[in-house]
Amino acid sequence: MIAVSKTYPVSDIREVYNAGIRDFGENRVQELLDKKDRLPADIRWHLIGHLQTNKVKFIVPFIHLIHSVDSERLVLEINRQAEKCGKIVDVLLQVYIAEEETKFGFSPEELVAFLDSAQRTKLANIRIRGLMGMASFTDNMDQVRKEFCMLKALYDRVSGEYFEGRADFNILSMGMSGDYEIALEEGSNMIRVGSLIFGKRAIL
Ligand SMILES: *Cc1c(COP(=O)(O)O)cnc(C)c1O
Repeated sequence: MIAVSKTYPVSDIREVYNAGIRDFGENRVQELLDKKDRLPADIRWHLIGHLQTNKVKFIVPFIHLIHSVDSERLVLEINRQAEKCGKIVDVLLQVYIAEEETKFGFSPEELVAFLDSAQRTKLANIRIRGLMGMASFTDNMDQVRKEFCMLKALYDRVSGEYFEGRADFNILSMGMSGDYEIALEEGSNMIRVGSLIFGKRAIL
């Protein structure tokens, strides 16, 4: 479980840290950098929000996992910056499964096309660990379940076809405060929970 600490103050994060949580997620690079410097160094930081290519260099030196890789351009930039640092960066490819127009990510077709081309490109400094997705923001839990189920099927397919079931392609990040139980039932193995841990968010 990732504790999603976006918008919450460092004092709240410290409280959750003291309860034993070490994985925290932020969606904005600047906010992440500000908080990181004021918190213990053994926190594993996850970036879960849209990442602009010009900000990649700021997080590559320390980021534990980037969940929100949503374009080939971004993949190439992460690989380039990681090479500069002599690092291998773990990432998830974000897949667009919701009905809304507002969410970032590869469509399933784009994902497959990207993986076809990625096999030909040498990406020595990036390790694709799995997929991430967000369900539609709706009260219709059948719809949410359907979307998670679809992502799990895609994850299984991609794992077999492109990663030969390799052990390091093993993360399916799906589920938030409102839908994590359904996500887990549908095969999620990493959930990103914010408001259920920290309380209602005052700002967005
Ligand atoms: C904010 C956010 C979450 C957590 O949302 P909650 O509803 O507060 O649990 C999870 N994933 C992403 C990508 C987010 O931006």
